[in-house]
Formats: sequence, structure tokens, C-alpha cells
Amino acid sequence: MEQPWILSGKISSQAREYGKTLCVPGAKIVDIADKIEKKILELGGKPAFPVDVSLNTMAAHYAPFVDDPIVLQKGDLVKLDLGTHIDGYVTDTAVTIEVESEKYKKMREAVHAAVEAAIAVVKPGVKVCQIGAAIENAIEPYGYNPIRNLCGHGVGAWEVHTKPTIPNYDNGDQTTLTKGQRIAIEPFVTDGEGFIKDGKPSGIYALVNPKPVRLDGARKMIQHILKEWKTLPFTVRWVKHIPNYQFLLNYLEKEGVLMQYGQLPERSGGMVTQEEHTLSVGEGVLTR
Ligand code: MN
Ligand code: MN
Repeated sequence: MEQPWILSGKISSQAREYGKTLCVPGAKIVDIADKIEKKILELGGKPAFPVDVSLNTMAAHYAPFVDDPIVLQKGDLVKLDLGTHIDGYVTDTAVTIEVESEKYKKMREAVHAAVEAAIAVVKPGVKVCQIGAAIENAIEPYGYNPIRNLCGHGVGAWEVHTKPTIPNYDNGDQTTLTKGQRIAIEPFVTDGEGFIKDGKPSGIYALVNPKPVRLDGARKMIQHILKEWKTLPFTVRWVKHIPNYQFLLNYLEKEGVLMQYGQLPERSGGMVTQEEHTLSVGEGVLTR
């Protein structure tokens, strides 16, 4: 396996473990994201996407905003989702922390059992529906639901989400995996119905069509994005030093140059846990 993947995985793993120590009552979630992103840089990587700190019924895609006022409270169920890239080689990992509480311990155990059961069936030739079945079967005895419309994915060079889709239940998909293929497995568990819906705008953007635009400031912003992140996701917090950044982001989104992700809350208001690891099929877990 190439060295950059191994290093990328190690950094993601260390940054995740560091992030867990930051989830204490009174911590501002924007500080948690800043500190984890700084740690990734110190370890020699770059964030592959903005650190997500999604609380309670929010399953994913909550990237703290500039001056985000949210502070962790005792009992919060925190999903930390982060990634590293080394020259575009992406690894993606996530963990759930419950702030000074054990109320959702079973739901945390269920998602841990699910990700481990999935990892255990991964080998060259496995069908992706078999991974989904392993996840579903591991969660079932705990009495919770997997979130069915969120899934794992391939990771590529300069791509966080690529083929194949790794389902969180047995969806019948017969796609098989091959040795050396890199995939992220990310079960979500909920005491709700088991579906996410599109939420509010997340402030997470990605460049989708770097076409010529009229405004000089917007052209400069496109150049900055291409230089720093290419097509990887970035957040409003990362461009706050640019004058009129929110105006320019809105303009570029309207022009179709940028797309903005939505936050992903559980549809029925269920609490959510998540774990995620990136693997190289037949070669091991990169983010242990
Ligand atoms: Mn992730
Ligand atoms: Mn992922």
C-alpha cells in the first residue's frame, strides 16, 4: 500500500483521539473544530473536509460556523467526523462521544458493534450488500434502527465520496470489492425512524463548476479555492479572512460555481450515533 494512505489514516486516527478529549461541558464546538483541524496540520496532513461536530438529533454535516455560539452541555451526544488528505489521498473517520453521561451508552455500543461487524466481513470479493447486512444484523439486537439513507463510500484522490456506495442495511446491491480498494464504512444508529432529511444550509461548500464569472473578487475566490482545496469540501470558517466572503459565497453558489451541502438531521427527531473507519480492502483498517 502506498505510504501517503497509511500516513493519512494515522493522522486521522490521532486527530480523532485528540478530538475526543476536547468534548467536555462548556467547550465551544467551533473551538473543537479549529483545534482538530490545527492538529491535522501539525501532524503533517491537511483536513480533507471541515471537521463536523454534529449534536444529538443531527446525524451529520454540522460544521461549526464563524463565531458559532454552541457550547457542549452535559448529556450531548457528539458525532465528531473528520478527514485527512496527504497530496489528495483521503481518509475519513468518525466517533461518538456522550458528554459526561451514559444515557445513550447502548446506542453508542450498537454503532460500535456495527462498524466492527462490517469491518470483519470486508475482504476481496465481498458484496457491498453483505456489509450492509452485517451492519443491520449487529444493530438489530440493540433494538435500534440503522439510518438507511446515509451510507459509506469509496474514497479517492481528491475525492471524499466516490463509488461504490456501502449501504447501512442489506439493500441487495451485488457490487463486489477488490483488493486494495479504499472504502469508508460509516454506520449510523438511531432511536428514531432511521432516515435523515435535508436540513438547513451547512456553510460547507465544494467547487463544482469553476467557470468564468463577472466579479473580480469572486474570480479571486475561485483561484483561492482551487489552490487550497481543489474540489474537496471547505467551510465558510476557512474563508473568513477574505473581504465580503459571505456575499461572494452566495454569488458563486447562485452562479452554480459552488454547491452548498445541507445539514442532515434525523427525520423523526431521533438521537443519532455514528462511527466510521477507512479501510483498504484486504489490507486493513487505515484509521485504527
Ligand atoms: Mn466522515
Ligand atoms: Mn464518510
